[in-house]
Amino acid sequence: MIAVLNTYPMRISRNLIVFAKEESIPPYAQQVAELLGELPDLTPESAGPALELWEADGLSRVVIFDQNKDELRAEGDDTRGFDERVLFSMAERALSEGETGFRSDLADGAFLTYACVPVKSGGKTVAAVGVYEYDDAAGALVMGIRDDMMKASIGLGIAAVVLSLFLSKTLSAGLTRVLTGIRKVREGDYTFHVEVRSRDEFATLAEEFNTLTERMQQTEERRRRFVSDASHELKTPLSAIMLLADTILENDNMDAETMREFVTGIREEAQRLSRTTAQLLDLTKLDRPVEEKQVDVDCVRVAKRVLSALEPVARKAGVTVTTHFDANCHVLATEDDLFHLLHNLVDNAVKYNTKNGRVAVSVLRDGENVVITVEDTGVGIPEEDLPYIFDRFYRVEKSRDRGEGGTGLGLSIVKSTADRHNADLSVRPVTPHGTAFTVTFPGTMPE
Ligand code: ADP
Repeated sequence: MIAVLNTYPMRISRNLIVFAKEESIPPYAQQVAELLGELPDLTPESAGPALELWEADGLSRVVIFDQNKDELRAEGDDTRGFDERVLFSMAERALSEGETGFRSDLADGAFLTYACVPVKSGGKTVAAVGVYEYDDAAGALVMGIRDDMMKASIGLGIAAVVLSLFLSKTLSAGLTRVLTGIRKVREGDYTFHVEVRSRDEFATLAEEFNTLTERMQQTEERRRRFVSDASHELKTPLSAIMLLADTILENDNMDAETMREFVTGIREEAQRLSRTTAQLLDLTKLDRPVEEKQVDVDCVRVAKRVLSALEPVARKAGVTVTTHFDANCHVLATEDDLFHLLHNLVDNAVKYNTKNGRVAVSVLRDGENVVITVEDTGVGIPEEDLPYIFDRFYRVEKSRDRGEGGTGLGLSIVKSTADRHNADLSVRPVTPHGTAFTVTFPGTMPE
């Protein structure tokens, strides 16, 4: 590339100059030859006037050859670069074949130009005019161009080398940083952050990498918290069971009624354990992508199933359940997921209610969406707890809920189910007291 850059302009400028020479020097010789051809008698003296302008035209040497190839008359003694043999062989051809000769070469920083034309008189070749020009000015011009190009290309070459070294260094530095990050993450260090130093593709790669590790770190953090919370939740009822069982075993004379009370306690704790493990299983299932085929589910039909299952619980708690159902409330989900979601919400609304309290369940169509609301007049959720109630194992009042058998997992199951089916879940307090949960599903229109 650099070689082409170097030679191409030089060749072009040399050709241009040779072309200019060809357009000016042979015509000059031709002009002289025509003047000489008109002379009745060609002698060294008679030829003189025809050669008058040779110097003014910048020529170095003009030679008139007679028919015997001898010099009849010669002008100019600037013989720099002049090669007699070249002009002589041109004269030979001009005299024998009547041919015009031309040659221009660049040698040692000058253009050496030869031309020779025959002198014709009465249809015969009687002599030949040979001219020679030594042009070092044009030569210097071409050499100057060559030198400039050489300097420019050396500069360009150095710049290219420096630039490629710099680029390869920056590229490999960027790559090394990301590779170090990948290695660290592979070793389990999710806290590693790749430093973003540039604004190129490596910076984008580093940012993507950092976002990925941050997400992995959060997932890992959540996983650890979940495992520790789950073990804690399982440990508590197990310890209670052990304590109750030990007390029975250590008291030989325990009366039947106290014994029954203790065994009932053991049973309750075992039930809690079983509920917690069942809900943990539900949660792990919800973490996986939807395996069951999503189908068109009629929300009203599912709500009615949930209400009839919980009717005895509500009756026992003295809570009245009212309903408001729209027609055509279909969503794309799985019937089981929808059942669990509604069951958890209505169960809570009954469980955290007061005697003679009310629960209102509505399934309404709002444009394309299906909006399910479970509203109660119960104890309500304090404002400061609202942001956390969907967290796993979160209970508002730990002691109270555990007494009532709560696991703190119901609402996180509701949240995971809603997310899984692209539904929006929200909670708001109800005045004077109570809570309302709303789930908005993207609906499907029945065919
Ligand atoms: P739990 O199994 O303890 O009911 P949830 O995840 O279903 O677990 O609920 C988390 C906490 O949110 C509960 O401990 C309870 O204090 C509170 N809560 C949930 N629903 C209601 C409600 N409708 N009214 C008042 N408090 C509620």
